[in-house]
Amino acid sequence: MRKNLVIAIDGYSSCGKSTLAKALAKKLGFIYIDSGAMYRAVTLYFIRNQVDMSNPEAVTDALQHIELNFHARDYQSHITLNGEEVSEEIRQMPVSENVSAVSANKIVRKEMVKQQQRMGKSKNIVMDGRDIGTTVFADAQVKFFMTADPKIRAERRFREMQSKGDTTTTLEEVFENLAHRDYADTTRVESPLTRAEDAIILDNTNITETEQLDFAMEQVQQYLPL
Ligand code: C5P
Repeated sequence: MRKNLVIAIDGYSSCGKSTLAKALAKKLGFIYIDSGAMYRAVTLYFIRNQVDMSNPEAVTDALQHIELNFHARDYQSHITLNGEEVSEEIRQMPVSENVSAVSANKIVRKEMVKQQQRMGKSKNIVMDGRDIGTTVFADAQVKFFMTADPKIRAERRFREMQSKGDTTTTLEEVFENLAHRDYADTTRVESPLTRAEDAIILDNTNITETEQLDFAMEQVQQYLPL
């Protein structure tokens, strides 16, 4: 059994994984790692540099030119791509539309998983994503698998995008993008999104953020104090 505590949160797109992960990390004083931001930042680099995804050598070469770093500020996830703050840009539609294809790439996944495992080594962390409880930290002590009604998820993400000044993307586009990403993430060959056998299901369609945090804290309690 590991000495450090790892909390793995997986689930569908936009069902509040990062909200729960940040709240848990803050409450417990743990490090929060948003693995989706890493795939998004790689996608941004690939778009900007027109990396040919069908060419394994081009993908390998591109990955060697990418340095990702997280900067914890109030438990918000700020990520830099080769020193440039890209936290806002990676949430916009061009990246959302291409990230599923990039994250399905075997070479990309291998490199990201390696970096994620290094980040979590000997530290108390909360990491959210799609394959954390099944692949990255299959031995995590606490695993959650999150889900929520797709319409509610799209409305939440739409409101979030509007509050950040995106007035061009419609609710329908957000819904379509979530549906597309869920399908791509669950059906891909490499580490598809699936619930780890020992993951606790958390459906937050009808519960508040406080209720979901309380529920999650109850599951973590048995490992505390560290
Ligand atoms: O979590 P977020 O929605 O920002 O992730 C963006 C995309 O990155 C997902 O749709 C998925 O394709 C990919 N991803 C992944 N594995 C992870 C985290 C994210 O494949 N651990």
